[in-house]
Amino acid sequence: MSAPKVVIVGAGFGGLAAAEALAGEVVDVTIVDRNNFHTFLPLLYQVATSGLNAADVAYPVRGIFQKQPNVDFLQATVTAADWDARTLRTETAEGHTVTLPFDHLIVAAGATASYFDIPGAEEHGYPLYSLADAIALRNHVLARFEAAAAEPALIDGGVLSFVVVGGGPTGVEVAGALAELFQMVLTKDFRRMDVHRARIVLIEMTPALLGPFSLPSQRHARSELEARGIEVRLDQAVASVEPTQVVLKSGEVLPAHTLVWAAGVQANPLAAALDVETTRGGRIAVGTDLRIPGRAGAYAIGDVAAIPGRDGGLLPMLAPVASQSGRHAAGEIKRAIAGRPSKPFHYRDKGTMATIGRRAAVAELPFGIHLSGTPAWLAWLGLHLLFLVGFRNRLSVFLNWVWSYLTWDRGPRLIVDQREARDARRLEAPTTPHR
Ligand SMILES: Cc1cc2nc3c(=O)[nH]c(=O)nc-3n(C[C@H](O)[C@H](O)[C@H](O)COP(=O)(O)OP(=O)(O)OC[C@H]3O[C@@H](n4cnc5c(N)ncnc54)[C@H](O)[C@@H]3O)c2cc1C
Repeated sequence: MSAPKVVIVGAGFGGLAAAEALAGEVVDVTIVDRNNFHTFLPLLYQVATSGLNAADVAYPVRGIFQKQPNVDFLQATVTAADWDARTLRTETAEGHTVTLPFDHLIVAAGATASYFDIPGAEEHGYPLYSLADAIALRNHVLARFEAAAAEPALIDGGVLSFVVVGGGPTGVEVAGALAELFQMVLTKDFRRMDVHRARIVLIEMTPALLGPFSLPSQRHARSELEARGIEVRLDQAVASVEPTQVVLKSGEVLPAHTLVWAAGVQANPLAAALDVETTRGGRIAVGTDLRIPGRAGAYAIGDVAAIPGRDGGLLPMLAPVASQSGRHAAGEIKRAIAGRPSKPFHYRDKGTMATIGRRAAVAELPFGIHLSGTPAWLAWLGLHLLFLVGFRNRLSVFLNWVWSYLTWDRGPRLIVDQREARDARRLEAPTTPHR
């Protein structure tokens, strides 16, 4: 008899934890992901703001499982499930359809941005949900400075105005990191331009930044951002977005050529394509044991799943929730194979953190321990290093951080436009026969 087939959709925090928890078991695990790498999403904003290299925050999935013989990998996008045949339909990058049979399935496809149907937000906004998003934002930000250097008159029209929408941890981190990039580095790179004319506006529709944090942490974040010259606008919402301006619901028009969208989040659209029950934010409804109701042997974990918390609400979309639920789903599969009953999933909350910039962060830990400033920043740095995948990545991130801290310099400030390579190939390809 062949070993039971376990398919894991997504090589994020949840998918990796589930596969690792199945090490040594007599199961045949296939991880399927549209990318051939795992992305450490919490550090994406540092790639977007030239703090880190793209390769520092990503790691090839095959490399992670080199020493786990029961894990295989398929680079493909899952598009649908056939629950009767117990197969997944996937599409490779080359456009081929590959059908994946499974005995047990873990859906760990994560989340994506939600634009709340705001006109122009998806078209012109820059989200931060993938490595490609981070590189696109870095290219765009740096290209605005080059455009302003070439044509200073553009500054009056908002070429150096950057609107960040969403006052949660991602918005706060992006705004703080942009301010440091401009003040620490671009002032030296663009010596003949008045970089201080660059403007960062952080817009949040509720009355507070960092909603789930305590009042002192919220105040600390705001004062640190304002000390870095960021305009914090609370109780304000975006009405529409155009390439060179952002219109607020109040009617105010902000000339800005860049809008970073850190406001809304929803489950990956795969949840809707799988023919399963979905709930708030498009997340897959699951029982307390993470099983998908009516779909035998199928589990949903992490951001894509609506996991019930102890207080009756849903667990937040956070990396520890994804990892812990991934390990639990793996445990459920082991129990199902052994014929043992299932167990409910209990999330152990180890706290939340957000960083604002150099020696500025907030951390809310269990037992009411709240840190801010340098201690919170050091805790944030240490934890992120600890959870990064791969020693090489840890070392590289550590060296980048030490270098930035000591020299006030930043890492890669490269405008690498993928279209450029395609255009070059097109120009090189002869369109008329050689005479
Ligand atoms: C910018 C940013 C900063 C964050 N900062 C923090 C933080 O500081 N602390 C914290 O705890 N959390 C943070 N989070 C949240 C945290 O990263 C997520 O909760 C966590 O990544 C969820 O893990 P996951 O495994 O559910 O999904 P993900 O890690 O998102 O992984 C999903 C995987 O599924 C793959 N996938 C998606 N659709 C398909 C498909 N159809 N077919 C094949 N593969 C597919 C994707 O390529 C991806 O690899 C942050 C998130 C973002 C976006």
